[in-house]
Parts: sequence; C-alpha cells; structure tokens
Amino acid sequence: MYFDGTILLLLPGLLLGLWAQARVKSAFEKFSKVRTGRGIPAQELVRQMLSRQGVVDITIAPTQGTLSDHYDPSSNTLRLSQGVYGSDSVAAVGVAAHEAGHALQKEQGYALLSLRSVMVPVVNIGSNLAWPIFFLGILFSWKPLMYAGIAVFAAVVLFSLITLPVEFDASRRANLMLTESGYFTQEELDGVRKVLNAAALTYVASFVSAALQLVRLILIARRRND
Ligand SMILES: [Zn+2]
Repeated sequence: MYFDGTILLLLPGLLLGLWAQARVKSAFEKFSKVRTGRGIPAQELVRQMLSRQGVVDITIAPTQGTLSDHYDPSSNTLRLSQGVYGSDSVAAVGVAAHEAGHALQKEQGYALLSLRSVMVPVVNIGSNLAWPIFFLGILFSWKPLMYAGIAVFAAVVLFSLITLPVEFDASRRANLMLTESGYFTQEELDGVRKVLNAAALTYVASFVSAALQLVRLILIARRRND
C-alpha cells in the first residue's frame, strides 16, 4: 500500500466499514435467537413466497460459511448459509427473503441486476489491476498510466454504486413478500427490517471506501503534476 498523507482519507471509510460489520453481526446474532411464530424454515418459506410470484424453477441449496448467502443469477440458484438454511428465526427469514428478492429481480428483468452481473468479471479483474497499473505510472512518472489505473478503479467504484439500488430493492421486495405472506407479526417484520438495514449499511460502507480510494488516487496523481 502506498503511504503518504492522503492515506488518512481512507480512515472514514474504514471506520464506517467496521461499524457496519459490527452492526450486521450483532443484529444477525440477536435475531437468530428469535424464532418466528409460524415456524417455517427459511428455505421452505422463500420457495413458497417465490412460487406465489411465479418463480418456480429456482434451486435453493445450503452453502458453507456464515452470512455467505447469495443468489446466483446465472444458474438461478439461491444459496443459504448455515445459520439460515433450516432456521425459522427472524434473522434467517429476513436474509433468505432478501436473496429471494434478488431472484425476483431476475425474474422481472430488473435492469440494474443484469448490468451488475455483466460487470462482475470485469470488476474482479479491475480491482486487482487498478493499483499495480497506477503504481507503475508513479514508478515511471508516466501520467497516462496513472490515469489508466484511475479509470480502471473508477469502474470498480461505479460497480459499488450500482450495487446500492440493487441491494435496497432486494430488501424492499423481501419486506413486501414477507408482509404479503401474512405469516408474520409486526414485531417480527420490524426485526427483519433491522437485520436488512444493517446489511444494507455494509454496502454503503463499501461504496464510501471505494469512492474515497478513488479520490485518493486522483489526489496522488495531481500532486505529481510537476
Ligand atoms: Zn443482496
């Protein structure tokens, strides 16, 4: 990592990220212990809710790890982590419903989800290459290379930005599906909202961190304008 005064710029993003992680962890732990009155395991619940929305050809499978839940649009598979699959807790129901929200986005052709999926491979490469390219630019004092690194990193920031509406929309769909199911009390729905809001904050933190990194790269490059 390049070290100079601009590194302080990264601090707010770092702190926000740590705070968001801690909030997700504590919300998830708290509501993992609260069982829903209806008692339907998360995977069964989302299958029911999705089928009501016309999504029937989806695979729902368990996956390793904690909070590693995700929806894979390419194989139309919803993977639920250890604390979620098989659990009927408020936290499990919320997380599973959020992933079901992504499945619904795919089903209904939500454009930003498609855009995000297209960007994933590009961004994976870009996030690894941006710094080395930029660094070589500094090393050879060659500004076009610095700006190339900045451009690549800007794509990573854009991806982070596009992720925000996609995630907020998935949680909105989750809340709607859970409310419409009629299975849950207001208190349970409030708990779900707390878990999902905490999770959303981690995406905001990622975006803020990435945006600050971009600002930092620009500042470093401009300082070498001599
Ligand atoms: Zn999501």
